[in-house]
Amino acid sequence: MEIDLEKIREMAAQRREENAHFKLSLKTIPTRQIDEMVGQLNNEISDAIDCTACGNCCKQLEPPVDEQEQERLASLKKLDVTSFKEKFIGEEAGTQIQFLKCQPCIFLQANRCGIYEHRPASCADYPHLYQPNFKYRWKSIMANYALCPIVFNVVEQLKQKLNYTKTTE
Ligand code: SF4
Ligand code: SF4
Repeated sequence: MEIDLEKIREMAAQRREENAHFKLSLKTIPTRQIDEMVGQLNNEISDAIDCTACGNCCKQLEPPVDEQEQERLASLKKLDVTSFKEKFIGEEAGTQIQFLKCQPCIFLQANRCGIYEHRPASCADYPHLYQPNFKYRWKSIMANYALCPIVFNVVEQLKQKLNYTKTTE
């Protein structure tokens, strides 16, 4: 199990070609079978990794937040919604998806979420490995593979379980 963030970042860059090939190899395996394997690996690996020793997602990502969440977060920050939006909300060009614009997150306190019970849905769902259709979400899986030890180890152990033969390194 690899949990060193710097090593994971390096290995993710080195394994780009291998992972593109691995993605192609998943084509012939039923989606449901892969999702079940990923779900099981996610349970095992999430239990073995201490997120409070990492906190990387809360330092590197900017989670989407809907209007209701923005109101809740503004109140937790003791700001009116307009001021909160001006300071901390961004909008993605093209999609108009609004997100928490701060790296690291303003609610992160010593690697822990300071508003854990009230965190946005996207944060609660991260790293999104329970979502179905793993093999069709490859782009976002690979973005998280490079920064989240849970995703990195799930993908690497999935390769082992499927007896995937490495093509590089
Ligand atoms: S979800 Fe992943 S990136 Fe976030 S703290 Fe846990 S291991 Fe680190
Ligand atoms: S709201 Fe909490 S869980 Fe979400 S990014 Fe900020 S610190 Fe992390």
